[in-house]
Amino acid sequence: MSTTPAILTELEQALGPGGVLTGDGIGEKHHVDFSGEHACAPAAVVRPGSTEELSAVMKCCHAAGQGVVVQGGMTGLAGGATPQPGEIAISMERMSGIEEIDTDSMTATVLAATPLQTLQEAAAAAGFLFPLDLGARGSCTIGGNIATNAGGNQVIRFGMMRNLVLGLEAVLADGTVVSSMNRMLKNNAGYDLKQLFIGTEGTLGIVTRAVLRLWPQLPSKTAALCALEGFPEAVALLQALQTRLGGSLSAFEAMWESYLHSVVDNVETVRSPFADRHPMYVLIETEGSDEAADRERVEAALEFALDEGIIVDAAIAHSERERESFWAIRDGIGDITPLLQPMLAFDVSMPIARMPSFLAQVDREFTAGFDAVQNHVFGHIGDNNLHLAVTTGREADMPALCDIVYAATGAHDGSVAAEHGIGTLKRGYLHESRTAEEIELMRLLKAALDPKGILNPNRVLPG
Ligand SMILES: Cc1cc2nc3c(=O)[nH]c(=O)nc-3n(C[C@H](O)[C@H](O)[C@H](O)COP(=O)(O)OP(=O)(O)OC[C@H]3O[C@@H](n4cnc5c(N)ncnc54)[C@H](O)[C@@H]3O)c2cc1C
Repeated sequence: MSTTPAILTELEQALGPGGVLTGDGIGEKHHVDFSGEHACAPAAVVRPGSTEELSAVMKCCHAAGQGVVVQGGMTGLAGGATPQPGEIAISMERMSGIEEIDTDSMTATVLAATPLQTLQEAAAAAGFLFPLDLGARGSCTIGGNIATNAGGNQVIRFGMMRNLVLGLEAVLADGTVVSSMNRMLKNNAGYDLKQLFIGTEGTLGIVTRAVLRLWPQLPSKTAALCALEGFPEAVALLQALQTRLGGSLSAFEAMWESYLHSVVDNVETVRSPFADRHPMYVLIETEGSDEAADRERVEAALEFALDEGIIVDAAIAHSERERESFWAIRDGIGDITPLLQPMLAFDVSMPIARMPSFLAQVDREFTAGFDAVQNHVFGHIGDNNLHLAVTTGREADMPALCDIVYAATGAHDGSVAAEHGIGTLKRGYLHESRTAEEIELMRLLKAALDPKGILNPNRVLPG
């Protein structure tokens, strides 16, 4: 796709001074998302300041058949916000802010480019919790969170972003504004149109505003790190805690031995609370409103797990510092990533019962195909989500490693994208998780909403 000066003139007229960046005026932040792959300067960056301006931009682009890529906080890991040659980037950065926090209906109405952390803090200041949380909270935007249906650390209790969105407004490829700003939990009046834009990675419309659910604040957090003999015990622990903690379990983070030991052996500031090494570890956390009572319940549940032989040891955090030190182990993937380059970070999901067979198949095929492969596994197994950090030390091995992991995922009824999306990087593997009929229906939806194929083209759907 090539960009003519005529469309740039039209866009400048629609947006006024500062609304269109070209040439050296385009910052490198617009060249690539957090995946770091295939960086490319966009033909121009347009920065609408309102839904009306964005609608005018899309009318121009639709008329000209001009391809666009939508950019939020650029923290995506699937290449979806990275421009492809000739595309104009639509940066949402000027559409940021919280319009309203409704304390009666416990909702927040926000503009799409509001950073997640800004919303979390505003909700907390009003006495509420916005429960989506992920490492990129300071930079990722609510629009990006909706477009990718973001997950994170508390899905087991509050669900993914889809579960937190009551209503939204979106601009379609031809500039039509669809306002579906529902504020009710129950609303079965016709199709639930917001679902078209949640998790579809900007391919069907551009999210401009949203109504989001808030929860009462839960001031008490109790964390514990458990040591286990293996995966069956981790599944038994999950069931025991869900039964005994009455829905207060907010995190259940499993870490296989190679992952945890790699973190504690390589990161000076992180240490294991256990004297011995174990095959498996689980970090659990509960959220509640009565610190003493919450802790007692966690202690009783872990005592039960010890007595039943489900866990072999456990350490409960006795201070906020200790709680943070447990999370530093789980978040240590960020610290060991530089040591594992070039590294592939897989984000797959599957039924929990199929995980052991999946991991065994992957290990078998890695060992058969490569001399020295490191595979560090951890994940939110209560959400069916596994992360694999894999390296052989050789860039040339990467495509074959991807083929092994994604084929095994498909063979185990899993998803090649648990929470990070398909973007550009996993388009070629969508068929491992979706039937031909499902992909055809996705193409029909895309053609109906974006007949010229100008909105985030060549993303999600296979070429
Ligand atoms: C350190 C770190 C930790 C992370 N942890 C997690 C995690 O735990 N769970 C998780 O799910 N993800 C995680 N991510 C991935 C990422 O943060 C999420 O995918 C996030 O939702 C992306 O938001 P963004 O605003 O940065 O979107 P971008 O990267 O800008 O865009 C992502 C996709 O959404 C589209 N898009 C952006 N804004 C809009 C909009 N307004 N309307 C329509 N389409 C839009 C883009 O075109 C692109 O396809 C992590 C990333 C990092 C860097």
